[in-house]
Amino acid sequence: MQQKHVLVIGGGISGMTTAIEIAEVGHEALLVESKPYIGGKVVQFSQYFPKLCPPQCGLEINFNRIRNNSRVKILTSARVNSMEGSKGNFKVQIMKKAELINSKCTACGKCADVCPVERDNTFNYGLDKNKAAYLPHEMSFPFSYTIDESACLRNECKKCLDVCEYDAINLDAREELIEKTFHSIVYSTGWEPYDAGEIALLNYGNHPDIITNVEFERYAAANGPTAGHIIKPSDQSAPKTIVFIQCAGSRDEKHLSYCSSVCCSASLKHALIASEKLKQVKILIFYIDLRVSGRNEDFLKQVEEDENVELIKGKAGKININNNKLFVEAEDILSGIKTKTESDLVVLATGIQPSLLNSKLPKDDYGFLLNDKLPEGIFASACASKPLDVSASLKDATAISLKAIQN
Ligand SMILES: Cc1cc2nc3c(=O)[nH]c(=O)nc-3n(C[C@H](O)[C@H](O)[C@H](O)COP(=O)(O)OP(=O)(O)OC[C@H]3O[C@@H](n4cnc5c(N)ncnc54)[C@H](O)[C@@H]3O)c2cc1C
Repeated sequence: MQQKHVLVIGGGISGMTTAIEIAEVGHEALLVESKPYIGGKVVQFSQYFPKLCPPQCGLEINFNRIRNNSRVKILTSARVNSMEGSKGNFKVQIMKKAELINSKCTACGKCADVCPVERDNTFNYGLDKNKAAYLPHEMSFPFSYTIDESACLRNECKKCLDVCEYDAINLDAREELIEKTFHSIVYSTGWEPYDAGEIALLNYGNHPDIITNVEFERYAAANGPTAGHIIKPSDQSAPKTIVFIQCAGSRDEKHLSYCSSVCCSASLKHALIASEKLKQVKILIFYIDLRVSGRNEDFLKQVEEDENVELIKGKAGKININNNKLFVEAEDILSGIKTKTESDLVVLATGIQPSLLNSKLPKDDYGFLLNDKLPEGIFASACASKPLDVSASLKDATAISLKAIQN
């Protein structure tokens, strides 16, 4: 068998799967991830449907498969700079960010203890702060501290350098350009949340208790900014009412004209989590129509049976802020009545957008990569090509791994 070398761009659950599948049948895969850790959005979930497992469940198995297979190589904090050539002979330049903390790091945390600079904690979507020298999260793979170059005072400070006992810090490190040749390339670049600030009538950004679904994930997570407590960000108290607004910006010509396919199941999950954690809470979910499939149908049944939750067919189009209180305006389609609901916390179920929105590669009208128009030897998997949940992403990533090693 002629061994092939495949470049996988994006180290989320789908990129990891593609790289592992390629390596486990005897080929080589290089996984290039722009963040300092792999795992993508799944590591930011509190729990994930359909089984509501914590992210450790699926990820730890895959981390082990990577640890045990020397044919998967990982480059974190790296991006593809340029590529040329064709199938069988792609020449790629990859830029790896300056490695201010190297692989000698034991994650003792002393660098963060003495670091004087605070930055927005990007893992928690800026809902709290951490230090410029930081461990991205408890499940980080690789398990290493890193330094935010844009926040670090470098040689003006050097406090981390003084306390590191393992010679793991080099504040003079510079970015590195790596050149390699590949048989094929897989884009597993996934998605980004749609910017809720674009939907003016929903007033996101104008009141702390209007949050998005990805922010809710972090509030619900035990390793999130509130250690898993669902709170009103304005005063940290437990909300007595929560409204979920489905299709916030989705299926709307002015924003995302498509359905992201996962937001309904995500909000059902969030409603169950909130009901379980808060007990005394009234949860309303305003939806156009609930799009759940496969095993998530059981999930819908669970929500329908939860007495804390009410599902209301109707588009909520506006959030009014009056005397610092939130009022959600919606139309209850079944009764035909226009409603105005006061709510302590409002969660916007914003859709997902492809990460490579601005790339020059062939895309569909919504910006997702088009596999049948990509140059030979280049493929797109999972959410780089369409909105999918994790289980469908894994199937897609496995199928693409086979294509990537074909002659
Ligand atoms: C609110 C919400 C909740 C959800 N909950 C669930 C759930 O409970 N269960 C479920 O099955 N699904 C859920 N989903 C869907 C799930 O997030 C996706 O199925 C999953 O993230 C797809 O994985 P992926 O690897 O394709 O993409 P991602 O998870 O987005 O990973 C892509 C990776 O590529 C990296 N990357 C991007 N661009 C580049 C680049 N140019 N160079 C290098 N690296 C790059 C990113 O940093 C990231 O690590 C949810 C979605 C939303 C919006």
